[in-house]
Amino acid sequence: MPIYEFECRKCSHVFERFMKIGEGYEELACPACGVKDPKKLVTAFRTNSWSTFLDGMERKVNPYKFK
Ligand SMILES: [Zn+2]
Repeated sequence: MPIYEFECRKCSHVFERFMKIGEGYEELACPACGVKDPKKLVTAFRTNSWSTFLDGMERKVNPYKFK
């Protein structure tokens, strides 16, 4: 199940939620202030692990690049 990161439009509190595919997040409420309809963020964790993974692949395929 994918994890998404949301930012509250009111208090800028950032929180993570497991979301089912196709599940709406408009009804999600901020755990800090209770305001619904948070902004969806691209999760830094996913971005980092993906780029780390790509970096590792590249090191295997093109080790000369990292000398
Ligand atoms: Zn909030």
